[in-house]
Amino acid sequence: MDAKKLTQTLIGYNTVSPLSNVEVMDFLTETLESIDCEVERVEYKDPAGVLKVNLIGRKGPENGERGLALLGHIDTVPAIGWSMDPFEARIADGKMYGRGSCDMKGSVSCMIEVASRHAAAELKAPLYVVITADEEVGYFGASAVAEKSQMFKKHGFPQYGVVGEPTELHAVYAHKGAVRFTVTAHGRAAHSSTGEGDNANLKLIPFLAEMRDIYQELTSDTQYFNDEFNPPFTDWNITISDGECAANITSPLSVCSINYRPMPGDDAQIWIDRARESAERHGLVFDLYINAPPVRTSPDAEIIQAALEITGEATPQTVAYSTDATVFAQHMETVIIGPGSIRQAHTVDEWMALDQFPQGVSIFDQFVKRFCAK
Ligand SMILES: [Zn+2]
Repeated sequence: MDAKKLTQTLIGYNTVSPLSNVEVMDFLTETLESIDCEVERVEYKDPAGVLKVNLIGRKGPENGERGLALLGHIDTVPAIGWSMDPFEARIADGKMYGRGSCDMKGSVSCMIEVASRHAAAELKAPLYVVITADEEVGYFGASAVAEKSQMFKKHGFPQYGVVGEPTELHAVYAHKGAVRFTVTAHGRAAHSSTGEGDNANLKLIPFLAEMRDIYQELTSDTQYFNDEFNPPFTDWNITISDGECAANITSPLSVCSINYRPMPGDDAQIWIDRARESAERHGLVFDLYINAPPVRTSPDAEIIQAALEITGEATPQTVAYSTDATVFAQHMETVIIGPGSIRQAHTVDEWMALDQFPQGVSIFDQFVKRFCAK
């Protein structure tokens, strides 16, 4: 199994989060079976009713230790404005271009190459490769795996997890959570000259003023800061959309979306409740659709210490973005480490440096040797 070639194949499947991933997961089921993994498919319908598949590949002994999971996602963010076909891998200048090359089909391919290198009979503890859906839009796949996997019900969750998001192979012990909600104002469209419309944007304004107050509190009051992170405050990022309503139409619908990244120790509910109360007081519709807690594994934990020994680093890092670890760290001792750089993730003309492939394989392989091999 060659991680680079497998990544090229995976980039050829358009797996932007809202689309069905059945085809790529059929291919990956065969791939995992071809390297002697027992495979479980964990299926669910996403919020739009689209069937999604998650895969768990397992090899190793049936009883005894709980083992190690290599954890990745197959969905990607959309690809708009590319200078090339985002779904056809291209190699040039020491880089592999393509949507998902870095986040994170490259990393998933490294995991599968590593799993292919270890025969089941050589393992004293089971090795899992877990591939999820919908990481980019709310960790729905990881949640389905945690709730529904029969394999994990039978054997227990693995003891250790490596979430292979692009960290340039630095060990990450903590990240911020993700809270996202929308607040919707309903109005009535009319030609603005008639005076008969009802402008939804105007209804949003008093609510927006209160959200700006929260933004200012969270980004300037140091009691809410956490110096383990850079930046040490949350974003409370406010976006608004009225669907590009023309200037001579009263806007019938206006939606505010807010993204908030709680840090370990924060009480996210205080801010969620304050926004909900404000929305309701102004006659707006509040819809919380992501509420993923932050992650913090103790830097002294065995998996973090192992990661430091493997990378040769002195101290582990934190990152500001969120990952499937928001779910998996509730069930296993988790480190976040993987090939590729977050600077290329989600970008136009996304790429991963070719030298990250052998390095990613080598790092994941050392985790398997340490926690699974006899
Ligand atoms: Zn990712």
